[in-house]
Amino acid sequence: MRILVVEDEVHLAEALSHILKKNNYTVDVSNDGESGLDNALSDIYDVIVLDIMLPKIDGITILKTIRREGLDVPVILLTAKGEIADKVHGLDCGADDYLAKPFSTEELLARIRALGRRRGEISESSSTLKFGDITLNMSSLTLSGNTNEINLTLKEYELLEYLILHKNIVASKEQIIEKLWGFDSEAESNHVEVYISFLRKKLKFVHSSVTINTVRGVGYILKE
Ligand code: CA
Repeated sequence: MRILVVEDEVHLAEALSHILKKNNYTVDVSNDGESGLDNALSDIYDVIVLDIMLPKIDGITILKTIRREGLDVPVILLTAKGEIADKVHGLDCGADDYLAKPFSTEELLARIRALGRRRGEISESSSTLKFGDITLNMSSLTLSGNTNEINLTLKEYELLEYLILHKNIVASKEQIIEKLWGFDSEAESNHVEVYISFLRKKLKFVHSSVTINTVRGVGYILKE
């Protein structure tokens, strides 16, 4: 899962980014509202952690703007003490959850997992994602099939997760590059091809009947 943290308190933003990365999330940080909005509008995130009081553009305006643009990405608002009115207003404006500062990282992780569950099909009991006969485990970065289990690299995990969460649509190479490497990266379409071939081998290794089908000139889609 890819998470955007929009937070102007640099130390807090860095701490959040660190803890989220340690928990196998991919994280981008924006330290002001303008870059936060730009990033959010890219629609490559699975969850946005959004501070309310921000320089340039405030969090509520960012939230309203992305909802008006039709983005349904789950948003967790971070509220400071005394911003109760903002919190209520934020939920009215389309936030999915809020956390009052100071909060524990455990609490934030639990909220993020809950939103991930709501969005995808991450099972109730743990951080796993199922498709056909395969199970993807987020905390151990493993892929399990009918008989075997195999470790995935973080990029392999992210790619397979992306395909599962977008199982009904063809994922283009461009979307996959943005999702896994971000906009500014030098990654090219052959990177995607390489990871797709790794994943195909691993799916075979776990004796899964799930396949990654190539839709020529368009991209990839999972089939059971
Ligand atoms: Ca702030």
